Order: sequence, then structure tokens, then C-alpha cells
Amino acid sequence: MRLILLGPPGVGKGTQGRRLSQVQGWALISTGEMLREAGTRGTPLGLEARRRMDAGQLVSDEIMIGLVRERTALDDASKGFVLDGFPRTVPQAEALDALLEERGQRLDAVVSLNAPETELVRRLSDRRECPVCKRAYNRGSSAPKNGAHCDDHPEVELKSRADDAPETVRERLKVYREQTAPLIDYYGRCGRLLEVTGLGEPDAVFRTMQEALAARQQDR
Ligand code: AMP
Repeated sequence: MRLILLGPPGVGKGTQGRRLSQVQGWALISTGEMLREAGTRGTPLGLEARRRMDAGQLVSDEIMIGLVRERTALDDASKGFVLDGFPRTVPQAEALDALLEERGQRLDAVVSLNAPETELVRRLSDRRECPVCKRAYNRGSSAPKNGAHCDDHPEVELKSRADDAPETVRERLKVYREQTAPLIDYYGRCGRLLEVTGLGEPDAVFRTMQEALAARQQDR
């Protein structure tokens, strides 16, 4: 399947996308992760992206569309992919439709995850990430077994993401409301949207999402 995980920052797109990709064997394409890696490598694109990310702003559509065009053409994406963090604007969604059509492919589903803003703010302030495998933990719902260390990399200390600082989170939520939330209508209009609650334990959200996807697969 080719699918999109849509939703505000902190709703669990990364956590759910990672699990879906592990269980189903679909490539996980996280555009935020790609940009953070480029930032760590210090490429010109990465440094420019980091400036935008640290301010809670989006990176330009042109750059993002180019990145996704290349990434979705790689071999591991041929059996299916999960897009986490793309598209984030209507022009990105239109470019993705055009790109898939060009390749004779189609988008199978758009899973829209949602949760109230108070919950998102709480989760983002509690979020910690493993610098090696990028797995996200949360003191509330998905705490690491050993306090401040990654379960799979016990020697590594978990870190907060720079853009999870409270003022950046406020800006990211505003950007989401203004530029990304319109995609719910965009995909809803053509019947591709599956609405799944992002509230509750990650395991329960995952089960609900899988049931919705299985029902969608049967419809086709
Ligand atoms: P994420 O890891 O998905 O929360 O993304 C972190 C940051 O990367 C965002 O706040 C944006 O600055 C940037 N970013 C990720 N994906 C996109 C995209 N599709 N379009 C524009 N900016 C993006």
C-alpha cells in the first residue's frame, strides 16, 4: 500500500508509521527525519532546513517535492510506503498526485490522526528521542524501560528535539492549522481519508489504524 499519515505535531505519526512499516514491510519515509539527517551532515540543504525547522517553519515546497520524488523512486519503496510528514501543504499534495499519476501508481489511503492541542503540547514537551535509531519515547504513554536511555541502545541517552521547545511548538501548531489542516478536506473530498483517533495508548491507536486499513484494502 502507499499511504500518508496526516496529523499535527505530536499526534504519533512517527511512532505509528514506524510500526506500520515494520509490520507490513512498507518503506517509512519521514521527511522531518530526512531533513534532520541532512542538517547533521551539514549539507547546504540541511543547514537551510535546520534554520526553518528551528523556527517552527516549513521548508519550501520545491525542496520537499524534489526530496520525495527521489526517495519514493528508490527500490525499497516499490512494495509500498508510508509517508510521515509529507505532504504538509496543498501544493505538496497536488505534486504527489501528479507524481504518482506519472508513474501509473495510486495513493491507497490517507490516515488522519488527531488529538486535542492540549494533549499535543503535553506530549511534545515530554517527548525524548534516541539519537541513534530516532525512536521516540514519552514519559507518559511510552516510557523507556531504563529511565533516560533507549531500549535498543542502552548506552545512548535520550534527547529532546530542538523544535520541541514550547515557543517553537506553538509556531508549529499554528503552521499546522494554517497550512496542513486544509489537507483533511483535500483528501476527504475524493474519499481517500480514514479518520483515526490519536488519543489513547499507542498499541490501541495502532490496532484501530490497522483495522481501518484492512477494511480499505477489502473495499478495493
Ligand atoms: P517532523 O519531524 O515531521 O515533525 O518535521 C520537523 C520539521 O521538518 C517541520 O516542522 C518542518 O520544518 C520540516 N518539514 C518536515 N516535513 C516537511 C514538509 N513536508 N514540508 C515542509 N517542511 C517539512
